Amino acid sequence: MPTDTCDLLIVGAGINGAGIARDAALRGFSVIVCDRGDIAGGTSSASTKLIHGGLRYLEQGAFRLVRESLRERETLGRIAAHLVRPQRFIVPHTGVRPAWLLAFGLWLYDFLAGASTLPRAQRLDATFPALACLAGRVRSAHAYFDLWVDDARLTLENLIDAQAHGARVLPRCALGSVTPDADGWRCQLSGPGGDHSIRARAVANVAGPWAPQVEALRGDVEQPGVRLVQGSHIVLDRLHEGDDAWLLQQPDRRVVFVIPYGPDYHLVGTTETDLESPDALGVTDAERTYLLAALSRAFGRRLGQGDIRWEFCGMRPLLAGAGSARTASREYRLELETAPGGRHWMSVQGGKLTTYRSLAEQAVDRLAAAFGHAGQSTTAQLLLPGAEGVAADGMRTLFDGLRRDYPEFDAGWIGALLPRHGARTATLLAEATADGGAGRDFGGGLFEAEARWCRRHEWATAAEDVLWRRTKCGVRMSAGQRDEFVQWWGGQPPP
Ligand SMILES: Cc1cc2nc3c(=O)[nH]c(=O)nc-3n(C[C@H](O)[C@H](O)[C@H](O)COP(=O)(O)OP(=O)(O)OC[C@H]3O[C@@H](n4cnc5c(N)ncnc54)[C@H](O)[C@@H]3O)c2cc1C
Repeated sequence: MPTDTCDLLIVGAGINGAGIARDAALRGFSVIVCDRGDIAGGTSSASTKLIHGGLRYLEQGAFRLVRESLRERETLGRIAAHLVRPQRFIVPHTGVRPAWLLAFGLWLYDFLAGASTLPRAQRLDATFPALACLAGRVRSAHAYFDLWVDDARLTLENLIDAQAHGARVLPRCALGSVTPDADGWRCQLSGPGGDHSIRARAVANVAGPWAPQVEALRGDVEQPGVRLVQGSHIVLDRLHEGDDAWLLQQPDRRVVFVIPYGPDYHLVGTTETDLESPDALGVTDAERTYLLAALSRAFGRRLGQGDIRWEFCGMRPLLAGAGSARTASREYRLELETAPGGRHWMSVQGGKLTTYRSLAEQAVDRLAAAFGHAGQSTTAQLLLPGAEGVAADGMRTLFDGLRRDYPEFDAGWIGALLPRHGARTATLLAEATADGGAGRDFGGGLFEAEARWCRRHEWATAAEDVLWRRTKCGVRMSAGQRDEFVQWWGGQPPP
């Protein structure tokens, strides 16, 4: 088996691995990224999908983290303009926390955000129409803004850009063994596509919840202290009209988010359940009951498990520490070990979707210093591929241009493609035209042309990659439609 060589092997294609890959490739490192599953197949497709400072982390005094996150919110709003949308959250005054405390917290949130393009928080009184959805007599509330993002696609776009700058991406390829040599690491990767032998000067362990297992491949080294806290989400038919989301305070002082999820659904989450190991992952009945009870209390609706259209859960790979899962730190830690001769091993622990870019910048700064590279990070300035033109002109201009250039395609389909592919929609439509049209309609907004695009250009190798991560069309499809798609996918030639 021939051995490939690279400066940096990144183990884990979640958001943090993808962010490091992009930053390192842009700075001229030769990079290979591997993941034992699909891109964003771990935690990075199972989040609440908020680019936020985390209002509740203020209560824990995590001011530095909230400030960093809010500054990143501004940056990501620009570089990923097609994947994010401003989202207003309403916090009803239900007595769990006094209204003055919420007002102070939101003032601080705005203050820490600095100069932001999002509107500032405001107090709402009983005449605010959305409050009519609530059960009981809620007479006032506060409203504030954060960003909502497609987490899996944010991860993907970082890798698309990394590849455009020379990185190799190997999904469904697990690191199985790693041994040191004089000035690097010999790494054995295996997957359905075959085995790979890679020699890398540096390895970055960005395996999130699985970081301790990857660390253990090195033999007798100290394992990172990762605390696994499961969070589950449920998706239900829209509970009410309108675009507002809710931050519902619970009697146990936790908060539950209720967020519009496409035109037809609400996403509800999340929970915090300590896990012994990644193998224990799975939505529990207690979590479903907890989330449904939060909805019943807020909206006075009787909802049961039969109302759940879809559910998913993920593990927060948090820094180990004492205290409850609710108050566990969302900070991250980077560790770089350099052996004589110039062999490097970086471990990444903790973090949030929101802080991935700054985490990656710091990780590559440290690697660059160790390698003697001089380049500065450019990821705060350079737009992700699909954001080209969107940040300056907006989605509407892009949509109008595509309608003009491709009158043969349904406007609804173009409108659905844009928030997933942004400026790259133009190339997708050009390719669809060359292939003879949008092709088969699988339902739920998924057409053959997009599935083919995901296979050719976005490393999708299984039907589920398209249904649940490249698109979320699976939610809107019936079980029969999903089965038909799986069958069609299985009959396709390899890309
Ligand atoms: C319920 C929940 C809600 C959240 N909500 C938010 C939110 O709204 N906003 C926010 O900012 N953050 C949120 N987070 C946090 C955020 O999602 C995570 O911090 C982030 O996704 C972690 O990314 P990661 O790249 O470190 O890990 P992951 O995405 O888990 O990636 C690690 C990857 O490593 C791969 N891997 C493991 N072992 C190997 C191996 N041997 N070889 C190769 N690959 C391997 C895995 O397959 C996996 O894809 C939430 C987290 C959870 C669980």
